Amino acid sequence: MKLTIGYLYGDLMNIYGDTGNIIALKKRCEWRGIEVVDKNISIATLLSKGDCDLFFFGGGQDQQQEVVAKDLVKSAKGKVITSEIERGVPLLSICGGYQLLGEYYKPHKGPKLPGVELFGAYTVAGDKRMIGNITTESMFGKLVGFENHSGKTYLKKGSTPLGMVIKGFGNNGEDKTEGCIYKNAIGCYMHGSLLPKNPRLADWLIKKALEVKYGKNIELKPLDDTFELQVHQSAIRRFG
Ligand code: GLN
Repeated sequence: MKLTIGYLYGDLMNIYGDTGNIIALKKRCEWRGIEVVDKNISIATLLSKGDCDLFFFGGGQDQQQEVVAKDLVKSAKGKVITSEIERGVPLLSICGGYQLLGEYYKPHKGPKLPGVELFGAYTVAGDKRMIGNITTESMFGKLVGFENHSGKTYLKKGSTPLGMVIKGFGNNGEDKTEGCIYKNAIGCYMHGSLLPKNPRLADWLIKKALEVKYGKNIELKPLDDTFELQVHQSAIRRFG
């Protein structure tokens, strides 16, 4: 089997260790004998249906977000991404990438950036940065990560949070929600990198990508996650 990971704006949106998620996904495929490549889908890249089996969209500062938001609309890549998600293609987006997949992101300075409207959510820059370790209770069990954002994301009625904050700020530091999930697309604020410390989520993304691509139920060969789970447990012990 073969997977193509679309790294959305990987040259612009890749702060706080987010590229580590691409490395984790590739390693967990390679360790199972699944052929895997990653493609940078950036400003000059054309994107068509079926080009990628799984998308990753990392975090970025307001300046990069402005450039990327324009391209998502101008290049119509935003429309391709949403139609791929509608047919079940999995996606993980973090912080700045997550913000641009909502209805809009209003940074401190400058105009409101239009979002792709994948998630029923909107983000407004807050007056303080939300920084620190975060643990979240989710359908994947506890997830551990690191957050650093001023944007406060509010989920609209009918949107489903990825989980509830145990320790940290999450979407906005007010309503205890963290992230959003829609079909097989996930947005969240957990940098870190997120996936090396949360192997269950990493494998869920790989499994969904293979199942959509090959049109059948797929059980992944279990890996020895001793080390990953030690790190996961250590983070929970230390940060709640
Ligand atoms: N610029 C956005 C914010 O500060 C996103 C930052 C990030 O991706 N960590 O909220």
